[in-house]
Amino acid sequence: MDTTDAAVTELMTAMGHEQVVLVADAPSGLRAVIAVHSTALGPSLGGIRFWRYPSEHDAAVDVLRLSQAMSLKAAAAGLHQGGGKAVVLVDDPDAPRTDALLRAMGRAIDDLGGRYIAAEDVGATPHDMQVIASETPWVTGLEGPGGSGDPSPMTAYGVVQAMGAVLEELDGDAALARKRVVVDGVGHVGTHLARLLVEAGARVAVADVNRERVDVLVREIGAERLPVERALDEDCDILAPCALGGVLNEKTIPRVQCRAVCGAANNQLADAADDDALAGRGILYAPDFVVNAGGIINLAEEFAGYDRQRATKRTAQIADTVRRVFELARTERVPPGRAAEQLARRRIAEEGAGHRFRPGDAAAWTNGAPLRSLRPS
Ligand code: NAD
Repeated sequence: MDTTDAAVTELMTAMGHEQVVLVADAPSGLRAVIAVHSTALGPSLGGIRFWRYPSEHDAAVDVLRLSQAMSLKAAAAGLHQGGGKAVVLVDDPDAPRTDALLRAMGRAIDDLGGRYIAAEDVGATPHDMQVIASETPWVTGLEGPGGSGDPSPMTAYGVVQAMGAVLEELDGDAALARKRVVVDGVGHVGTHLARLLVEAGARVAVADVNRERVDVLVREIGAERLPVERALDEDCDILAPCALGGVLNEKTIPRVQCRAVCGAANNQLADAADDDALAGRGILYAPDFVVNAGGIINLAEEFAGYDRQRATKRTAQIADTVRRVFELARTERVPPGRAAEQLARRRIAEEGAGHRFRPGDAAAWTNGAPLRSLRPS
């Protein structure tokens, strides 16, 4: 669907959103959009993005798309969560925000009574989240007691589990030892991933526009340095995109020399048709939103009282989900990305049929009690 001129309500109808809230706070200058895509499986969960958008319409389209993706991610991961997202329109995402603006955002989230639960996303800092959380209990991923903190190590762990399932599908053996893996982007997730892969005996090559991050891994774990422009062309068993979205597109897919793609970056495929293009080249694609679910699994573990061991166990199950996706892709004769989407949509339709979470409803983790607050006040 062409989103350029479409009304927001028209897009909501087409994508199946429950609610979109426009937020404006004159004293602080806050302008934001909160999108609740689905609460069929539980309260919606998703990050707050601080971004410079060309227009309010662009911001709305982005938050609609991102919140829908969160519903699919949570559903595929087997969580009792729905999909939501918030965007704050700012002139410079890197400039510090006033506490007044962040507090106004916290109040807007609070008004939704738990229908939208926030976390950190692009442009947000731990400090921003702390200030927002001073106005509302509906914030996850905070540092300190009860908080799950930085999700990147768990995301990286989940990617390694997914890689095991990928290798099993390719070779009938999940072992990473001696496999060559290219990690494209070694920021928060990519750095942890490279370390875990070396520990598992893989031969790891890394690329990043930030030379210092590569230097650290070359020095500390003996990773091979790759120029950024060669990362996609490199002969390897697995390519792990861990930087930006849209890295696999009609220009890059013909160049890719890996046997499989399995990485943390969101929206790795520029277009849904790229799923077919990868399959057409015999490259196994492990769908990004299944592979990178460790972060959201880690956040969701906070609701029952955060326990890292339980979160790790749950994240390890990403390997089972990847196996189920490949199996469905085979039986339905569709590429894996589409199979993963089917799996998620099926769960929302079956388990979530007719459900809609309202403030004060019980959630999966409250043993029937109304959901009042995520944190003791
Ligand atoms: P990050 O910003 O810490 O790291 C991204 C890295 O990519 C940076 O080091 C940056 O220099 C590098 N980069 C930018 N452009 C590049 C290019 N053209 N080629 C190579 N490298 C480039 O982000 P992150 O938290 O590590 O997340 C990485 C990806 O994984 C993102 O797409 C993010 O949305 C996704 N993701 C992250 C998490 C998480 O737990 N952090 C969870 C799910 C998904």
